[in-house]
Amino acid sequence: MSNDIKTQVVVLGAGPGGYSAAFRAADLGLDVVLVESRATLGGVCLNVGCIPSKALLHVAKVIDDAAAMASHGVTFGKPKIDLDKIRGWKEDVIGQLTTGLNGMAKARKVKTVTGFGKFTSDKTLAVEGPEGNSTITFDNAIIACGSSVIDLPFIPKDDPRVIDSTGALELEDVPGEMLVLGGGIIGLEMGTVYSALGSNVSVVEFADQLVPAADKDIVKIYTNYNKKKFNIMLSTKVVAVDAKDDGLYVTFEGKKAPAEQVRYDKILVAVGRKPNGHLVAADKAGVNVDERGFINVSNELRTNVSNIFAIGDVVGQPMLAHKAAHEGHVAAEVIAGKKHVFDPRCIPSIAYTDPEMAWVGVTEREAKEQGLNIEVANFPWAASGRAIASARTEGKTKMIFEKETGRVLGGAIVGINAGEMLGEICLAVEMGADAEDVALTIHAHPTLNESIGMAAEIFEGSITDLP
Ligand code: FAD
Repeated sequence: MSNDIKTQVVVLGAGPGGYSAAFRAADLGLDVVLVESRATLGGVCLNVGCIPSKALLHVAKVIDDAAAMASHGVTFGKPKIDLDKIRGWKEDVIGQLTTGLNGMAKARKVKTVTGFGKFTSDKTLAVEGPEGNSTITFDNAIIACGSSVIDLPFIPKDDPRVIDSTGALELEDVPGEMLVLGGGIIGLEMGTVYSALGSNVSVVEFADQLVPAADKDIVKIYTNYNKKKFNIMLSTKVVAVDAKDDGLYVTFEGKKAPAEQVRYDKILVAVGRKPNGHLVAADKAGVNVDERGFINVSNELRTNVSNIFAIGDVVGQPMLAHKAAHEGHVAAEVIAGKKHVFDPRCIPSIAYTDPEMAWVGVTEREAKEQGLNIEVANFPWAASGRAIASARTEGKTKMIFEKETGRVLGGAIVGINAGEMLGEICLAVEMGADAEDVALTIHAHPTLNESIGMAAEIFEGSITDLP
């Protein structure tokens, strides 16, 4: 059955970028159609990304925290792992949020069309769906088709023992020996989950540090804290995987490479994501897509075709849900005739690991590369009452100030709750706050957030006697 639909705005892809754009456009009075090939709204983030990973990390945190209590006089028994129930918990979390999105779409009269959409011109989109095909004629389109996992050519593709992040979230079993290939945020988060559930986790990373985007000193604290939990191989790469009946035999090369092949029960490939720009027949609409699949946009999120916009992972790094959502709002507002551009001073990045790593604005490395005249203030959590009372003093809060003016240019935190704490530094960077603004703000005691105020006081010269 074919269905002809006319709309002012069609949004292709219902991830955080797409649904944010669709809802904002509808709120601004526009007629909106949201096209999504998955059965549920929410994209990668809600279905197989941010949200299910955090539901499983919550489970991991409780297991790890319970085990750590033994040294404070409370001993729990060995955890009994019921994978069906854990999976059920994760599915419930996803279900609550995707159902919520359906309700939000209905409340705004956003029409959702299930199916895979491809442009047929700069005014039309053909959608093939399980319940028939549709032709959508639009005034404006927003491409929000996201990204997909990257495969490696030398890793067996059809072996169920080789999984990507989506496979890892399915939590089929708890492998005895697991190799996480790629020491970025996603690999480390999933490694944290499997380690808490009982796997021996090894992490191999080609760069000389985990999470290469973050500053070395921040990552070093994370790495030291986890060196007993994970077998971490830096400056090392996997060059071959030999799939045998009794396991996956991996050959490594590099500085820390084991000389012999090593056997694993499962390999999680987490080496990054590629944009989906080549999947939407953008050429039929005249939209330029680069070789890698990224779509180039202006600060209004407009592609080279004036009525077609693009947002989220498909327009470039950082591939993060909050960036996609923010871009979605801008694109919708521009289409509605408002003056708006995407021009944030900073976009926060968070690894929801244990401890968490969070950073925003310029990193120390970037500041040096850009020749900025900066001063860095570090507040070690060994001096934080709250960190001591929580038995988690490994962390630190680092603030990066412009030397002459004291303006906050960036900051990074490693430690428990670092992700939640980062908001204060984001606001400081975005508002152009300086060290005095932060130092004179009364921070509640005893909180970990005090460390942000303390770092500003270090810059101001009023704290000099740190451990
Ligand atoms: P997506 O969420 O990728 O959504 C795109 C949607 O478009 C998909 O549902 C896809 O099915 C649909 N689609 C694509 N092509 C078509 C087509 N032709 N027709 C119809 N539908 C189509 N980010 C964070 O900020 N915080 C996190 O904690 C975090 N954790 C993550 C954990 C994991 C395991 C993964 C994989 C990612 C994580 N991310 C996280 C990244 C985050 O998920 C993405 O940055 C975000 O989802 C991008 O949003 P988007 O709207 O651009 O696209």
